[in-house]
Amino acid sequence: MKLKNFINKKPFFIAGPCSAESEEQVLETARLLKGSVDMFRAGIWKPRTSPNSFEGVGQKGLKWLCNVKKKTGLKVATEVATPKHVELCLKNNIDAIWIGARTTVNPFYVHEIAESLKGVDITVFVKNPIHPELSLWMGALERLNKVGVTRIAAIHRGFYSNEHSTFRNDPKWEVLIRLKEEVHNLPIICDPSHIAGRTSIIEDVSQTAMDLNLDGLMVETHYHPEAALSDSKQQIKPIQFKNMVQNLIVRDSSLRNDIFKDKLLSFRNQIDVLDSKIINILNKRKDIVEEIARFKEKNSLTIFQLERWFEILRTRKENALDLGLDCHMTTEIFEVIHKYSILMQTKLMRK
Ligand code: PEP
Ligand code: MN
Repeated sequence: MKLKNFINKKPFFIAGPCSAESEEQVLETARLLKGSVDMFRAGIWKPRTSPNSFEGVGQKGLKWLCNVKKKTGLKVATEVATPKHVELCLKNNIDAIWIGARTTVNPFYVHEIAESLKGVDITVFVKNPIHPELSLWMGALERLNKVGVTRIAAIHRGFYSNEHSTFRNDPKWEVLIRLKEEVHNLPIICDPSHIAGRTSIIEDVSQTAMDLNLDGLMVETHYHPEAALSDSKQQIKPIQFKNMVQNLIVRDSSLRNDIFKDKLLSFRNQIDVLDSKIINILNKRKDIVEEIARFKEKNSLTIFQLERWFEILRTRKENALDLGLDCHMTTEIFEVIHKYSILMQTKLMRK
């Protein structure tokens, strides 16, 4: 993709309320944030799951954002979901727009938005689709880039999950790492608010984003979070935002001197040796799985045996627990190993 690097400061901070609710709320929140943010956000058209929720103030909110620009000098951003929204934002000199998670999922919508941006040099943020489909997210970014939008950044807001979790939206950081590998020069901003869903873990998610060398944060911030008309549980006060930014540890991604380089190299060498051992062990395991498959075939036994699977899970978890290893990680690893073991046995038996 042909991208212009418009992130002139790292980390780049965007903050502001989930929704613009009144002119006073927008202006006061912006005033309190001034000095600690690079851009102000507020949703005007709100895509809500239920039609009975607050769906945004609509077009009149654009004037309020214009006033934020006038009074604070901050750049302003809002969400768009249709070409009409884009047209109104452009008319009102909004500096940046974002495509929300519920819009990124639909290539028709993204196509229409992209068409309405032909020949326009505006900053566009693209939130990840609700489910962790990297190609869909990349498709949206490419659609915009194809019509000539070059100031593009991705926003990571986590992924919907059916499972009970500490997060409102599962961060699945591994998806981001794959996105970074696919598009090297794409800035990625983390939205810890929609990942966390509650104020108590926003700082922790933000720190993880910094540790992964992401380019910035978009944080929902409201002057009276308790009274917010949308996402009240995850909005923090401007003062809390300021404190959080001060506490964030931003580490260096480049290796500053040779002592660091040597130390890191020695750690990496140790990891390389261990990884190679893991691969060798997996290979040995595979040989035994093949023998088992032949044995099962000869004796007409089913490949999958539920009790054995439960036993594997239980014992490996206990083993991990004894060592202080993460149980969930261990379970996931053995789920993958077991999945491929079953696949391999099925293939062998069919031969
Ligand atoms: C938002 O930023 O307020 C929003 C609606 O986000 P998302 O599209 O990530 O749900
Ligand atoms: Mn929100």
